[in-house]
Amino acid sequence: MTDNSKIAAPAIIGFVGLGAMGLPVAKCLVRAGYQVQGFDLSQDACNALLEAGGKICEDARLAAEGAEAVITMLPNSKIVNKVVLDSLAYHLGNAVLIDMSSSVPAETRKLGEELEKRGLNMVDAPVSGGVRRAVDGSLAIMIGGDPASVARVKPVLEALGRSIFETGPLGSGHAMKALNNFVSAAGLTAACEALAVGKKFGLDPEQMVDILNVSTGRNNSTENKMKPFILSGSYDGGFSLALMAKDLRVAADLADAMATPSPTSRLMASLWGAALEQLQDGADHTEINRYLETLQE
Ligand code: NAD
Repeated sequence: MTDNSKIAAPAIIGFVGLGAMGLPVAKCLVRAGYQVQGFDLSQDACNALLEAGGKICEDARLAAEGAEAVITMLPNSKIVNKVVLDSLAYHLGNAVLIDMSSSVPAETRKLGEELEKRGLNMVDAPVSGGVRRAVDGSLAIMIGGDPASVARVKPVLEALGRSIFETGPLGSGHAMKALNNFVSAAGLTAACEALAVGKKFGLDPEQMVDILNVSTGRNNSTENKMKPFILSGSYDGGFSLALMAKDLRVAADLADAMATPSPTSRLMASLWGAALEQLQDGADHTEINRYLETLQE
């Protein structure tokens, strides 16, 4: 039976994946009055949810019990598929599965078809804005799915984001998200390269960023990443290089699947893939600058 009612607080929301993004998103739901029951492989992450007023579950399956929606915010499609098909799917009932991970659109569609055969509903609702906007509930959210399921989960997503877009059928949110990250990574890469060249020429990097930010070269990375994470040397942007490299592969593969030439997306996927191989595990995405510096040596 399809339930058409909107999922409003204090409904129970299951949450699997309480990492850099999942934890602040789950905390926003708690603040909005939802009863959040979460699971993560990391005990520290579970404890942090408990401290924030959520409930922790011993496994993913239990996160779905009694829930009206279950959110996954996991590293990639492979992990999402495993968690959903091995455990969540058996306990979803009338709950809507909301995949807020940055997943592969074709995999999302396959998963949705599999769930539909079992009478279960799914939407994809990936996000953009990073940890800072996850903390203050001002994320951009792109939702794909059938209109009835999208309408049901809208109040939940409204507690998390300021800019919410319905992008079309299931998988369309994930396609949009991969394309966004392609544009974002290309902007970051170009800014890092420009700074390296300018520095060698004798330009002052801080001043270069100031000039870019009031000129036509301005982008999200020049405004929000170059000074705090790269010029400062902190390299702690809160989004791993491995996850960005994954998103770039997804975007390049999407371009191929659409038979649409996109040489820059393939170039980005290959450059970031090489950086991933060279940098240490757990490197932040802003460390693409460190990789580019090694090419000068
Ligand atoms: P993260 O690595 O910080 O967190 C992932 C969490 O998933 C970890 O806590 C991990 O323990 C948990 N996990 C992994 N496998 C699991 C399993 N089988 N069962 C339960 N928990 C499991 O990653 P993140 O930065 O929070 O990113 C999560 C998703 O959101 C990714 O798809 C990413 O691409 C996307 N995203 C991240 C950002 C960002 O700025 N960090 C922004 C937008 C989108």
